[in-house]
Amino acid sequence: MTTNARAKILLAFFSFIALTFSTLPSAWAADSNLKGIRGSFFDFVDDPWKHVGKEEESARFYSDGLLVLDNGIVKDFGAYGDLSGKYPGLAVTKISGRLILPGFISGHIHVPQTRVLGAYGQQLLPWLQDWIFPEEQKYQDPAYAKKGTKLFFDDLLAGGTTTCLAFVAPFKSATEEFFDEATRRNMRVIGGLAGIDRHAPPEFMTPPDRFYRETKELIEKYHNKGRNLYAITPRFAYGASPELLEACGKLRREYPDTWVNTHVSENPTETKTAAREAGCADYLGVYEKYGLVGPRFVGGHGVWLSDDEFERLHNKGAAIAFCPCSNLFLGSGLFRLGRATDPKCRVLLTFGDDMGGGNRFSLIHVLDEAYKVGMCNNTMLDGSVDPRCQNPAEAERNKLNAYRAFWSITLGGAVGLYADKWIGNFNKGKEADFVVLDWNGGPPATRWHQSLICDDNGPKNMKEAENLLFGIMAVGDDRAVDETWIMGKRAYKRAVETAANVAPTGPDVQ
Ligand SMILES: [Zn+2]
Repeated sequence: MTTNARAKILLAFFSFIALTFSTLPSAWAADSNLKGIRGSFFDFVDDPWKHVGKEEESARFYSDGLLVLDNGIVKDFGAYGDLSGKYPGLAVTKISGRLILPGFISGHIHVPQTRVLGAYGQQLLPWLQDWIFPEEQKYQDPAYAKKGTKLFFDDLLAGGTTTCLAFVAPFKSATEEFFDEATRRNMRVIGGLAGIDRHAPPEFMTPPDRFYRETKELIEKYHNKGRNLYAITPRFAYGASPELLEACGKLRREYPDTWVNTHVSENPTETKTAAREAGCADYLGVYEKYGLVGPRFVGGHGVWLSDDEFERLHNKGAAIAFCPCSNLFLGSGLFRLGRATDPKCRVLLTFGDDMGGGNRFSLIHVLDEAYKVGMCNNTMLDGSVDPRCQNPAEAERNKLNAYRAFWSITLGGAVGLYADKWIGNFNKGKEADFVVLDWNGGPPATRWHQSLICDDNGPKNMKEAENLLFGIMAVGDDRAVDETWIMGKRAYKRAVETAANVAPTGPDVQ
């Protein structure tokens, strides 16, 4: 090869190298799919009821933390000072003066009750006949269902709820709309067509053969598609014939990785009637009779469960959805939280708003009411009412401190729904759904209460974070939800800024 030819080859080689590097971004070493969120983070790594008196061991707090996301999945999480050096050039969104928690999880809610909150003075069964069935019937109209479903998801996000286990109206098109809207918003949801064929108006009934056929079609179309999961949904044993429950059992055998969502032992009259009509000793026994109780079974309420039913739920890995707003609003009763959390017989729990039996579209309100239910139980068991009923350990387990409360609507809710492999905390590999809390959001009392705990820069340690969170649930309200993020993208921003809510947020390249 001549010197001239060698020079031409070298020139071409260096030209190629120069061209290649000139087309790369300046931060070429960084993965362009990565982004970071910097702020104060609070999440959980364990069940606080396992750490009585030392609940902080179950939680994780970074006053200055960094959440690194790769296409909406958590890639890394920790203190900003420890992690930032690993990701030079990372595009970071800084969220100041806020507390960031995993997205809230509602384990029990009704899509077609979005427009029917706050009906006066009735217990469950007349409330269903007078208010709920007529409203849900309207969801047969696809246009009505479409608008109501959009409102439902808007309200979920405004309350900081990023995942729900939902009952949909007993119409296939309304159920399709639920999953289609969830898909458009990229939200992880579990839901299903709610079947009923007794104790309801004829036009509202779902004949068992139609329920079986339509549920099967919906499972094939939506289950495990994107973030959608399907729950076989007999509305409640009180409203289900043996044939409908048999259809549910058959579907469960055919699709063993689906969920089962229903109600159990909510109201005293309902509970007695359901067991008697099915020829069972108790309410849970009706679902057991048809093979429905096991992992991924979620029974709403469980207010009137016996000790024996709690033990059977524990043995089968099934869950109860505690819905205190609804239980108080409809006068159903006081769920025995301390009994369900007995370490010798622990029942999986998820908390639900049960909107519209619950009169608020907000899990922060649920925590407020759950705390009060727990305190009433505490009084009943501390020996002051009847020394024969004294049970100090169970009395204590009823007390819903901030750790137990927020665990129950994040990681605990995910565990109860068998969804913790996807959601619930900021562990690596989880889907990055989270809520940005403003501890000053809410009534004026919130601000003076919180000002006693920390300054505007936010909590500096775990204890301050705990006190702020308890203040949010006990003094504040859903206006504490400033932003809600789905898979690393902001899906909701509170519209009205409060005077104290002036901290800037937005992209900030490190
Ligand atoms: Zn319900």
